[in-house]
Amino acid sequence: MRLLNMEKSAQMWNECYTEHACKTTCTSPQFQIYHEQQIGLCWKQSLRCTNCDYHSRMYKLYTEVSTGRSGQRAATTNVALHVGLQDSTIGTTKIRHILAAMDTPPPSRTGLERTANKVATVTAQATMDDLHRRRQKTKETNTLRGLPEDAPINISVDVRYNSTNLQNTYSCGGQNASQALGTAISWQTGEKEIIAFWMDSKLCKLGATLRNKGVNVTCPGHAGCTANVQATDPLSEYRIGKQIWRQFSTR
Ligand SMILES: [Zn+2]
Ligand SMILES: [Zn+2]
Repeated sequence: MRLLNMEKSAQMWNECYTEHACKTTCTSPQFQIYHEQQIGLCWKQSLRCTNCDYHSRMYKLYTEVSTGRSGQRAATTNVALHVGLQDSTIGTTKIRHILAAMDTPPPSRTGLERTANKVATVTAQATMDDLHRRRQKTKETNTLRGLPEDAPINISVDVRYNSTNLQNTYSCGGQNASQALGTAISWQTGEKEIIAFWMDSKLCKLGATLRNKGVNVTCPGHAGCTANVQATDPLSEYRIGKQIWRQFSTR
């Protein structure tokens, strides 16, 4: 089972049929797939005729994302897969299991992760831009109401932790979490939009890998670190609140 773009596939068969008729004397073409190359979830294929020595060039049987830059462009379906995965509870491992169960050759793990990182970067930037636009809009509500621009804005903030049994620090022997995500909701209008968030994280895969190899690195602080709180520091809603306030103070 393969995921092929129907239009591109029909185009390939028609082109090969015409080319076969023009270039060969063979009168009863019997086409079959000659070569194929997997590009994540997508495929490049070529055809051959079993009644003569005709074979075609490779055809891209997928559409591509236009980036406006030179170089190889990503296949639309490969990018779309990660847009969908970002909004689901499964990741690259599970999607490979599902595809294999469907008898569809799953993309390589490294290829999936590389695309996931690229898509995540774009999504993160788009989210930041959107939240910035929403904050500016929220601030404008003060001006529209005849209040000074720096008048207080009504928001409510709460923080979630990556823990199912976070209680007090005494019964758990410390904070039973390594990440804390604070979100701010606007009460300026009836829309109650999320207008800011901040995540404190102690997790850094790169730092942990380097330490396991004997390299002396501390998180946060090294290049490519994903942690922004030291492992020994408590997660603090005060600090998260301050970071959210900083986002409001930037234009
Ligand atoms: Zn032929
Ligand atoms: Zn680190």
